[in-house]
Amino acid sequence: MPITTMQHLHMPMHMPVPPALHPLTSRHVVVICAGASGLVAAREIRREGHSVVVFEHGDQVSGTWAYTDKVESDPMGLDTNRTTVHSSLYRSLRTTSPESPWASVTTHSSPNPTRTETGDDSRVTGRSSCIYKTSQANSGLAKMKQQQQQQDMWMRYSMPLLYVTATNTQPRIAEILRLNEWPGKQMHSHNYRVPDPFRDQAVVLIGSSTSAIDISRDIARVAKEVHVAARSFAVETSGKQPGYANMWFHPMIERVCEDGTVVFQDGSFILPDIILHCTGYKYHFPFLETNGIVAVDDNRVGPLYKHIFPPILAPWLSFVGIPWQVVTFPMFELQSKWIAGTLSNRFALPSQEKMMEDVEAFYSSLEASGVPKRYTHNMGNSQCECPAFEEWRIGMYNANNKNRRARPESFRDEWEDHHLVLQAYDDFIKYTSHQVSGQCVSH
Ligand SMILES: Cc1cc2nc3c(=O)[nH]c(=O)nc-3n(C[C@H](O)[C@H](O)[C@H](O)COP(=O)(O)OP(=O)(O)OC[C@H]3O[C@@H](n4cnc5c(N)ncnc54)[C@H](O)[C@@H]3O)c2cc1C
Repeated sequence: MPITTMQHLHMPMHMPVPPALHPLTSRHVVVICAGASGLVAAREIRREGHSVVVFEHGDQVSGTWAYTDKVESDPMGLDTNRTTVHSSLYRSLRTTSPESPWASVTTHSSPNPTRTETGDDSRVTGRSSCIYKTSQANSGLAKMKQQQQQQDMWMRYSMPLLYVTATNTQPRIAEILRLNEWPGKQMHSHNYRVPDPFRDQAVVLIGSSTSAIDISRDIARVAKEVHVAARSFAVETSGKQPGYANMWFHPMIERVCEDGTVVFQDGSFILPDIILHCTGYKYHFPFLETNGIVAVDDNRVGPLYKHIFPPILAPWLSFVGIPWQVVTFPMFELQSKWIAGTLSNRFALPSQEKMMEDVEAFYSSLEASGVPKRYTHNMGNSQCECPAFEEWRIGMYNANNKNRRARPESFRDEWEDHHLVLQAYDDFIKYTSHQVSGQCVSH
Protein backbone atom coordinates (compact mmCIF):
# COMPACT_ATOMS: atom_id res chain seq x y z
CA MET A 1 0.00 0.00 0.00
CA PRO A 2 1.59 3.32 -0.96
CA ILE A 3 2.07 5.85 1.78
CA THR A 4 1.25 9.39 0.86
CA THR A 5 1.16 11.33 4.09
CA MET A 6 3.73 12.03 6.73
CA GLN A 7 1.50 10.80 9.57
CA HIS A 8 2.12 7.24 8.60
CA LEU A 9 5.82 7.46 9.01
CA HIS A 10 6.07 7.54 12.80
CA MET A 11 9.15 9.72 12.69
CA PRO A 12 9.90 11.27 16.08
CA MET A 13 9.29 14.98 15.87
CA HIS A 14 12.80 16.18 16.52
CA MET A 15 14.30 14.32 13.58
CA PRO A 16 14.13 16.49 10.47
CA VAL A 17 12.31 14.54 7.80
CA PRO A 18 13.40 15.44 4.31
CA PRO A 19 10.62 15.89 1.78
CA ALA A 20 9.99 12.94 -0.48
CA LEU A 21 11.29 13.15 -4.02
CA HIS A 22 8.35 11.21 -5.44
CA PRO A 23 5.17 9.75 -3.98
CA LEU A 24 6.30 7.47 -1.22
CA THR A 25 6.12 3.75 -1.76
CA SER A 26 5.66 1.05 0.83
CA ARG A 27 7.41 -2.27 0.14
CA HIS A 28 7.78 -5.71 1.67
CA VAL A 29 11.33 -5.99 2.85
CA VAL A 30 13.39 -8.99 3.97
CA VAL A 31 15.93 -8.46 6.75
CA ILE A 32 18.38 -11.26 7.33
CA CYS A 33 19.79 -11.76 10.83
CA ALA A 34 18.17 -10.67 14.06
CA GLY A 35 21.28 -9.43 15.79
CA ALA A 36 21.48 -5.81 16.88
CA SER A 37 21.83 -4.54 13.33
CA GLY A 38 18.90 -6.58 12.03
CA LEU A 39 16.64 -5.46 14.81
CA VAL A 40 17.56 -1.83 14.30
CA ALA A 41 17.06 -2.23 10.55
CA ALA A 42 13.65 -3.84 11.04
CA ARG A 43 12.56 -0.97 13.21
CA GLU A 44 13.68 1.66 10.71
CA ILE A 45 12.12 -0.19 7.79
CA ARG A 46 8.77 -0.26 9.59
CA ARG A 47 9.09 3.29 10.73
CA GLU A 48 9.38 4.35 7.11
CA GLY A 49 6.11 2.54 6.39
CA HIS A 50 7.36 -0.69 4.84
CA SER A 51 6.50 -4.15 6.07
CA VAL A 52 9.32 -6.41 7.11
CA VAL A 53 10.11 -10.02 7.74
CA VAL A 54 13.26 -10.82 9.69
CA PHE A 55 15.01 -14.15 9.13
CA GLU A 56 17.09 -15.49 11.98
CA HIS A 57 18.68 -18.93 11.99
CA GLY A 58 19.35 -19.05 15.72
CA ASP A 59 16.85 -19.72 18.49
CA GLN A 60 16.81 -16.18 19.76
CA VAL A 61 17.37 -12.59 18.79
CA SER A 62 20.30 -10.31 19.72
CA GLY A 63 23.09 -12.25 18.05
CA THR A 64 26.46 -11.72 19.65
CA TRP A 65 24.90 -10.20 22.74
CA ALA A 66 23.14 -13.40 23.78
CA TYR A 67 25.84 -14.98 25.94
CA THR A 68 26.15 -18.75 25.96
CA ASP A 69 28.53 -21.17 27.67
CA LYS A 70 28.44 -23.35 24.56
CA VAL A 71 31.42 -23.43 22.24
CA GLU A 72 31.95 -24.88 18.78
CA SER A 73 33.15 -28.42 18.10
CA ASP A 74 36.27 -27.10 16.32
CA PRO A 75 37.95 -24.64 18.74
CA MET A 76 39.71 -22.95 15.81
CA GLY A 77 36.45 -22.47 13.91
CA LEU A 78 37.96 -23.73 10.66
CA ASP A 79 36.14 -27.00 10.06
CA THR A 80 33.23 -26.22 7.75
CA ASN A 81 31.27 -29.15 9.24
CA ARG A 82 31.71 -28.00 12.84
CA THR A 83 28.72 -27.34 15.07
CA THR A 84 28.54 -23.57 15.10
CA VAL A 85 27.75 -21.26 17.98
CA HIS A 86 26.99 -17.68 17.09
CA SER A 87 27.98 -15.67 20.15
CA SER A 88 31.61 -14.75 20.79
CA LEU A 89 31.10 -13.21 24.20
CA TYR A 90 33.25 -14.35 27.07
CA ARG A 91 31.84 -14.37 30.56
CA SER A 92 33.97 -11.51 31.89
CA LEU A 93 33.19 -9.20 28.97
CA ARG A 94 32.24 -5.68 29.83
CA THR A 95 31.56 -3.23 27.05
CA THR A 96 34.46 -1.02 26.13
CA SER A 97 32.41 2.12 26.06
CA PRO A 98 29.93 4.07 28.11
CA GLU A 99 26.28 3.68 27.26
CA SER A 100 25.43 7.15 25.99
CA PRO A 101 27.31 7.24 22.65
CA TRP A 102 25.45 4.08 21.69
CA ALA A 103 22.02 5.63 22.29
CA SER A 104 19.68 5.84 19.35
CA VAL A 105 20.05 9.03 17.33
CA THR A 106 16.28 9.08 16.95
CA THR A 107 14.81 8.13 20.30
CA HIS A 108 17.92 8.54 22.45
CA SER A 109 17.05 5.35 24.26
CA SER A 110 19.99 3.04 24.62
CA PRO A 111 20.02 -0.57 23.53
CA ASN A 112 23.55 -1.24 24.59
CA PRO A 113 24.60 -3.20 27.61
CA THR A 114 26.42 -0.77 29.85
CA ARG A 115 29.93 -1.10 31.15
CA THR A 116 28.70 -3.39 33.88
CA GLU A 117 25.81 -5.08 32.25
CA THR A 118 27.00 -8.01 30.23
CA GLY A 119 27.32 -11.70 30.95
CA ASP A 120 24.09 -13.64 31.10
CA ASP A 121 21.92 -10.53 30.97
CA SER A 122 23.59 -9.03 27.98
CA ARG A 123 20.87 -9.31 25.39
CA VAL A 124 20.24 -6.03 23.68
CA THR A 125 16.53 -6.67 23.91
CA GLY A 126 16.75 -6.97 27.67
CA ARG A 127 17.25 -3.24 27.99
CA SER A 128 14.53 -0.76 28.76
CA SER A 129 14.42 0.39 25.18
CA CYS A 130 11.65 -1.32 23.31
CA ILE A 131 12.85 -0.21 19.93
CA TYR A 132 14.75 -3.34 19.23
CA LYS A 133 11.78 -5.55 19.90
CA THR A 134 10.15 -4.48 16.69
CA SER A 135 10.85 -7.64 14.84
CA GLN A 136 9.61 -9.85 17.66
CA ALA A 137 6.43 -7.95 18.19
CA ASN A 138 4.43 -8.51 15.09
CA SER A 139 6.46 -8.02 12.00
CA GLY A 140 7.20 -11.69 11.59
CA LEU A 141 10.44 -13.08 12.92
CA ALA A 142 10.87 -16.11 10.75
CA LYS A 143 12.94 -19.01 11.95
CA MET A 144 15.44 -19.62 9.26
CA LYS A 145 16.07 -23.29 8.64
CA GLN A 146 16.74 -23.33 4.94
CA GLN A 147 19.10 -20.63 3.84
CA GLN A 148 17.80 -21.15 0.35
CA GLN A 149 14.57 -19.54 1.50
CA GLN A 150 16.31 -16.19 1.87
CA GLN A 151 17.71 -16.31 -1.60
CA ASP A 152 14.29 -17.29 -2.93
CA MET A 153 12.54 -14.37 -1.28
CA TRP A 154 14.99 -12.09 -2.95
CA MET A 155 15.24 -13.64 -6.38
CA ARG A 156 11.77 -15.06 -6.89
CA TYR A 157 9.63 -12.47 -5.21
CA SER A 158 11.95 -9.51 -5.83
CA MET A 159 11.66 -8.39 -2.24
CA PRO A 160 14.30 -5.87 -1.22
CA LEU A 161 16.82 -7.64 0.94
CA LEU A 162 18.83 -6.13 3.74
CA TYR A 163 21.71 -8.31 4.70
CA VAL A 164 22.62 -7.28 8.18
CA THR A 165 25.98 -8.62 8.93
CA ALA A 166 26.96 -11.39 11.24
CA THR A 167 30.58 -10.34 11.33
CA ASN A 168 31.79 -12.24 14.38
CA THR A 169 31.43 -15.85 13.33
CA GLN A 170 34.15 -16.70 10.85
CA PRO A 171 37.47 -16.63 12.72
CA ARG A 172 40.51 -15.13 11.07
CA ILE A 173 43.75 -16.93 11.86
CA ALA A 174 47.22 -15.38 11.69
CA GLU A 175 49.34 -16.65 8.81
CA ILE A 176 52.23 -18.47 10.43
CA LEU A 177 54.39 -20.97 8.64
CA ARG A 178 53.53 -24.62 9.43
CA LEU A 179 51.07 -23.64 12.11
CA ASN A 180 49.02 -26.76 11.49
CA GLU A 181 52.03 -28.93 12.35
CA TRP A 182 52.47 -27.35 15.77
CA PRO A 183 51.77 -30.08 18.36
CA GLY A 184 50.11 -28.02 21.12
CA LYS A 185 46.47 -26.98 21.51
CA GLN A 186 45.10 -24.04 19.53
CA MET A 187 41.85 -22.12 19.69
CA HIS A 188 40.26 -18.89 18.50
CA SER A 189 38.80 -16.33 20.90
CA HIS A 190 35.37 -17.01 19.37
CA ASN A 191 35.38 -20.12 21.56
CA TYR A 192 36.81 -18.54 24.68
CA ARG A 193 34.39 -18.21 27.60
CA VAL A 194 36.20 -18.54 30.95
CA PRO A 195 39.84 -18.73 32.11
CA ASP A 196 39.64 -22.06 34.01
CA PRO A 197 40.90 -24.32 31.15
CA PHE A 198 44.12 -22.26 31.11
CA ARG A 199 44.99 -22.93 34.74
CA ASP A 200 48.76 -23.56 35.17
CA GLN A 201 49.25 -23.48 31.39
CA ALA A 202 51.77 -21.46 29.37
CA VAL A 203 49.71 -19.59 26.81
CA VAL A 204 50.65 -17.62 23.71
CA LEU A 205 47.93 -15.22 22.76
CA ILE A 206 48.03 -13.56 19.34
CA GLY A 207 46.49 -10.12 18.84
CA SER A 208 46.46 -6.64 20.31
CA SER A 209 42.86 -5.53 20.02
CA THR A 210 40.09 -5.54 22.61
CA SER A 211 39.57 -9.27 22.93
CA ALA A 212 43.33 -9.90 23.21
CA ILE A 213 43.61 -7.25 25.91
CA ASP A 214 40.62 -8.57 27.84
CA ILE A 215 41.39 -12.26 27.54
CA SER A 216 45.11 -11.98 28.34
CA ARG A 217 44.21 -10.24 31.61
CA ASP A 218 41.45 -12.74 32.30
CA ILE A 219 43.66 -15.80 31.94
CA ALA A 220 46.67 -14.20 33.68
CA ARG A 221 44.72 -14.76 36.91
CA VAL A 222 45.13 -18.54 36.58
CA ALA A 223 47.73 -19.32 33.89
CA LYS A 224 51.37 -20.07 34.57
CA GLU A 225 52.57 -17.73 31.79
CA VAL A 226 50.79 -15.45 29.34
CA HIS A 227 52.77 -14.35 26.27
CA VAL A 228 51.03 -11.85 24.02
CA ALA A 229 52.38 -11.57 20.45
CA ALA A 230 51.25 -8.87 18.04
CA ARG A 231 52.31 -7.21 14.79
CA SER A 232 51.73 -3.82 16.34
CA PHE A 233 53.85 -4.13 19.48
CA ALA A 234 56.78 -1.74 19.42
CA VAL A 235 60.13 -3.04 20.67
CA GLU A 236 59.90 -0.76 23.71
CA THR A 237 56.63 -2.32 24.88
CA SER A 238 58.00 -5.86 24.61
CA GLY A 239 59.00 -7.76 27.70
CA LYS A 240 57.51 -8.36 31.11
CA GLN A 241 54.40 -6.31 31.74
CA PRO A 242 54.26 -4.10 34.83
CA GLY A 243 51.67 -5.20 37.37
CA TYR A 244 51.85 -8.86 36.32
CA ALA A 245 54.15 -11.62 37.51
CA ASN A 246 53.28 -13.82 34.54
CA MET A 247 52.66 -11.66 31.45
CA TRP A 248 55.04 -10.77 28.62
CA PHE A 249 54.56 -8.89 25.35
CA HIS A 250 56.44 -10.03 22.22
CA PRO A 251 56.70 -9.04 18.59
CA MET A 252 54.79 -11.31 16.23
CA ILE A 253 55.54 -15.06 15.99
CA GLU A 254 58.07 -15.78 13.29
CA ARG A 255 57.67 -19.54 13.21
CA VAL A 256 56.51 -22.54 15.17
CA CYS A 257 58.46 -25.81 15.42
CA GLU A 258 57.47 -29.46 15.52
CA ASP A 259 58.98 -29.82 18.99
CA GLY A 260 56.46 -27.26 20.27
CA THR A 261 58.76 -24.23 20.36
CA VAL A 262 57.31 -20.86 19.34
CA VAL A 263 59.88 -18.40 17.97
CA PHE A 264 59.19 -14.65 17.96
CA GLN A 265 60.49 -12.16 15.39
CA ASP A 266 63.16 -10.88 17.79
CA GLY A 267 64.62 -14.39 18.05
CA SER A 268 63.32 -15.12 21.53
CA PHE A 269 61.42 -18.37 21.98
CA ILE A 270 59.23 -20.27 24.45
CA LEU A 271 57.59 -23.67 24.79
CA PRO A 272 53.88 -23.00 25.42
CA ASP A 273 50.95 -25.39 25.89
CA ILE A 274 48.36 -23.40 23.97
CA ILE A 275 48.12 -20.77 21.22
CA LEU A 276 45.02 -18.63 21.53
CA HIS A 277 44.16 -16.62 18.42
CA CYS A 278 42.50 -13.30 19.26
CA THR A 279 42.75 -12.25 15.66
CA GLY A 280 39.22 -11.16 14.85
CA TYR A 281 36.83 -12.29 12.16
CA LYS A 282 36.35 -12.43 8.41
CA TYR A 283 33.33 -11.22 6.48
CA HIS A 284 31.45 -14.28 5.43
CA PHE A 285 28.19 -14.51 3.49
CA PRO A 286 27.81 -18.25 3.03
CA PHE A 287 24.53 -18.29 1.18
CA LEU A 288 24.22 -15.00 -0.63
CA GLU A 289 24.58 -15.71 -4.32
CA THR A 290 25.10 -12.58 -6.39
CA ASN A 291 26.96 -14.14 -9.32
CA GLY A 292 30.08 -12.36 -8.16
CA ILE A 293 28.47 -8.90 -8.09
CA VAL A 294 29.35 -8.63 -4.40
CA ALA A 295 32.49 -10.43 -3.31
CA VAL A 296 34.80 -10.53 -0.32
CA ASP A 297 38.44 -9.96 -1.19
CA ASP A 298 41.02 -9.65 1.59
CA ASN A 299 38.22 -8.61 3.96
CA ARG A 300 36.93 -5.95 1.58
CA VAL A 301 33.25 -6.47 0.80
CA GLY A 302 32.61 -4.88 -2.52
CA PRO A 303 31.92 -3.03 -4.48
CA LEU A 304 29.68 -1.23 -1.99
CA TYR A 305 28.65 2.40 -2.33
CA LYS A 306 29.31 4.00 1.08
CA HIS A 307 29.73 0.51 2.59
CA ILE A 308 26.01 -0.22 2.01
CA PHE A 309 24.78 -0.47 -1.57
CA PRO A 310 26.19 -2.73 -4.32
CA PRO A 311 25.78 -0.27 -7.23
CA ILE A 312 24.38 -2.83 -9.65
CA LEU A 313 21.86 -4.26 -7.20
CA ALA A 314 20.94 -1.16 -5.20
CA PRO A 315 18.59 -0.61 -3.56
CA TRP A 316 17.30 -4.21 -3.85
CA LEU A 317 20.24 -5.52 -1.92
CA SER A 318 21.91 -3.54 0.83
CA PHE A 319 24.16 -4.23 3.80
CA VAL A 320 23.96 -2.89 7.35
CA GLY A 321 26.84 -3.10 9.80
CA ILE A 322 29.84 -3.65 7.55
CA PRO A 323 32.06 -0.84 8.92
CA TRP A 324 34.12 -1.51 12.01
CA GLN A 325 35.72 0.71 14.65
CA VAL A 326 32.43 2.50 14.85
CA VAL A 327 29.85 3.56 17.34
CA THR A 328 27.89 0.51 16.33
CA PHE A 329 24.23 1.00 17.19
CA PRO A 330 23.78 4.59 15.93
CA MET A 331 25.59 3.59 12.75
CA PHE A 332 23.17 0.68 12.20
CA GLU A 333 20.35 3.15 12.70
CA LEU A 334 21.62 5.77 10.27
CA GLN A 335 22.42 3.18 7.62
CA SER A 336 18.97 1.63 8.01
CA LYS A 337 17.23 4.99 7.75
CA TRP A 338 19.02 5.66 4.50
CA ILE A 339 18.09 2.27 3.09
CA ALA A 340 14.47 2.57 4.24
CA GLY A 341 14.20 6.06 2.76
CA THR A 342 15.73 4.92 -0.49
CA LEU A 343 13.22 2.08 -0.78
CA SER A 344 10.33 4.44 -0.19
CA ASN A 345 11.66 7.03 -2.70
CA ARG A 346 12.37 9.57 0.01
CA PHE A 347 16.00 9.56 -1.05
CA ALA A 348 17.48 8.96 -4.47
CA LEU A 349 20.74 7.14 -4.98
CA PRO A 350 23.15 8.34 -7.66
CA SER A 351 23.19 6.40 -10.92
CA GLN A 352 24.97 3.03 -10.99
CA GLU A 353 27.88 4.62 -12.85
CA LYS A 354 28.23 7.45 -10.34
CA MET A 355 28.10 5.02 -7.42
CA MET A 356 30.74 2.84 -9.04
CA GLU A 357 32.94 5.90 -9.70
CA ASP A 358 32.59 6.86 -6.06
CA VAL A 359 33.61 3.37 -4.91
CA GLU A 360 36.62 3.35 -7.22
CA ALA A 361 37.68 6.81 -6.08
CA PHE A 362 37.42 5.62 -2.48
CA TYR A 363 39.54 2.54 -3.17
CA SER A 364 42.14 4.70 -4.94
CA SER A 365 42.26 7.11 -2.01
CA LEU A 366 42.89 4.21 0.38
CA GLU A 367 45.65 2.90 -1.83
CA ALA A 368 47.24 6.35 -2.16
CA SER A 369 47.29 6.70 1.62
CA GLY A 370 48.81 3.26 2.06
CA VAL A 371 45.74 1.81 3.80
CA PRO A 372 45.71 -1.97 3.32
CA LYS A 373 42.70 -3.45 1.55
CA ARG A 374 41.67 -5.32 4.67
CA TYR A 375 41.08 -1.95 6.40
CA THR A 376 38.57 -0.78 3.77
CA HIS A 377 35.71 -0.79 6.25
CA ASN A 378 37.64 0.61 9.22
CA MET A 379 35.88 3.88 9.97
CA GLY A 380 38.08 5.11 12.85
CA ASN A 381 37.69 8.85 13.05
CA SER A 382 35.89 9.31 9.74
CA GLN A 383 32.57 8.51 11.42
CA CYS A 384 32.97 11.75 13.37
CA GLU A 385 32.30 13.62 10.13
CA CYS A 386 28.71 12.36 10.20
CA PRO A 387 26.52 15.45 10.72
CA ALA A 388 23.85 13.45 12.58
CA PHE A 389 26.26 12.82 15.44
CA GLU A 390 26.06 15.30 18.29
CA GLU A 391 29.25 16.89 19.60
CA TRP A 392 28.98 15.12 22.94
CA ARG A 393 28.75 11.75 21.17
CA ILE A 394 31.90 12.38 19.18
CA GLY A 395 33.61 13.85 22.24
CA MET A 396 32.73 10.77 24.25
CA TYR A 397 33.96 8.42 21.53
CA ASN A 398 37.31 10.23 21.42
CA ALA A 399 37.56 10.54 25.20
CA ASN A 400 36.83 6.85 25.56
CA ASN A 401 39.60 5.91 23.13
CA LYS A 402 42.04 8.17 24.96
CA ASN A 403 40.99 6.72 28.30
CA ARG A 404 41.48 3.15 27.08
CA ARG A 405 45.02 3.96 26.05
CA ALA A 406 45.82 5.84 29.27
CA ARG A 407 44.21 3.32 31.67
CA PRO A 408 44.19 -0.07 29.99
CA GLU A 409 43.49 -1.79 33.30
CA SER A 410 40.76 0.43 34.67
CA PHE A 411 39.21 2.48 31.86
CA ARG A 412 35.82 0.83 32.35
CA ASP A 413 35.63 2.11 35.91
CA GLU A 414 37.44 5.43 35.71
CA TRP A 415 36.82 8.18 33.20
CA GLU A 416 36.97 11.92 32.97
CA ASP A 417 34.20 12.72 30.52
CA HIS A 418 31.47 13.19 33.13
CA HIS A 419 30.63 16.58 31.60
CA LEU A 420 29.85 14.84 28.30
CA VAL A 421 27.62 12.33 30.04
CA LEU A 422 25.73 15.27 31.54
CA GLN A 423 25.45 16.91 28.11
CA ALA A 424 24.09 13.66 26.69
CA TYR A 425 21.47 13.38 29.39
CA ASP A 426 20.52 17.04 28.98
CA ASP A 427 19.99 16.26 25.34
CA PHE A 428 17.97 13.12 26.06
CA ILE A 429 15.66 15.03 28.41
CA LYS A 430 14.83 17.48 25.60
CA TYR A 431 13.43 14.61 23.61
CA THR A 432 11.60 12.81 26.39
CA SER A 433 8.25 14.26 25.38
CA HIS A 434 8.79 13.02 21.86
CA GLN A 435 9.69 9.49 22.85
CA VAL A 436 7.69 6.94 20.96
CA SER A 437 8.66 4.03 23.16
CA GLY A 438 5.09 2.84 23.60
CA GLN A 439 4.25 3.08 19.93
CA CYS A 440 7.31 1.66 18.40
CA VAL A 441 6.45 -1.95 18.95
CA SER A 442 2.84 -1.66 18.06
CA HIS A 443 2.66 0.05 14.72
C1 LIG B 1 33.77 -10.18 21.90
C2 LIG B 1 33.04 -9.02 21.30
C3 LIG B 1 32.89 -7.84 22.00
C4 LIG B 1 32.21 -6.77 21.46
N1 LIG B 1 32.08 -5.63 22.20
C5 LIG B 1 31.37 -4.59 21.69
C6 LIG B 1 31.14 -3.41 22.47
O1 LIG B 1 31.62 -3.30 23.60
N2 LIG B 1 30.40 -2.43 21.93
C7 LIG B 1 29.86 -2.54 20.67
O2 LIG B 1 29.16 -1.66 20.23
N3 LIG B 1 30.10 -3.62 19.90
C8 LIG B 1 30.81 -4.65 20.38
N4 LIG B 1 31.01 -5.76 19.62
C9 LIG B 1 30.56 -5.74 18.23
C10 LIG B 1 29.24 -6.48 18.03
O3 LIG B 1 29.50 -7.30 16.94
C11 LIG B 1 28.11 -5.52 17.72
O4 LIG B 1 27.80 -4.78 18.92
C12 LIG B 1 26.81 -6.18 17.30
O5 LIG B 1 26.54 -7.33 18.05
C13 LIG B 1 26.79 -6.54 15.82
O6 LIG B 1 25.48 -6.89 15.50
P1 LIG B 1 25.08 -7.71 14.19
O7 LIG B 1 23.60 -7.77 14.20
O8 LIG B 1 25.73 -7.09 13.01
O9 LIG B 1 25.71 -9.14 14.33
P2 LIG B 1 25.46 -10.26 15.43
O10 LIG B 1 25.27 -9.70 16.79
O11 LIG B 1 26.59 -11.17 15.23
O12 LIG B 1 24.09 -10.97 14.99
C14 LIG B 1 23.92 -11.71 13.80
C15 LIG B 1 22.68 -12.58 13.89
O13 LIG B 1 22.49 -13.17 12.62
C16 LIG B 1 22.15 -14.55 12.74
N5 LIG B 1 22.55 -15.18 11.48
C17 LIG B 1 23.80 -15.39 11.04
N6 LIG B 1 23.77 -15.91 9.78
C18 LIG B 1 22.46 -16.01 9.43
C19 LIG B 1 21.77 -16.45 8.27
N7 LIG B 1 22.44 -16.90 7.21
N8 LIG B 1 20.42 -16.40 8.25
C20 LIG B 1 19.74 -15.93 9.33
N9 LIG B 1 20.34 -15.49 10.46
C21 LIG B 1 21.69 -15.52 10.52
C22 LIG B 1 22.88 -14.99 13.97
O14 LIG B 1 22.29 -16.14 14.55
C23 LIG B 1 22.74 -13.73 14.87
O15 LIG B 1 21.55 -13.76 15.62
C24 LIG B 1 31.68 -6.85 20.15
C25 LIG B 1 31.83 -8.04 19.43
C26 LIG B 1 32.49 -9.11 19.99
C27 LIG B 1 32.65 -10.37 19.20
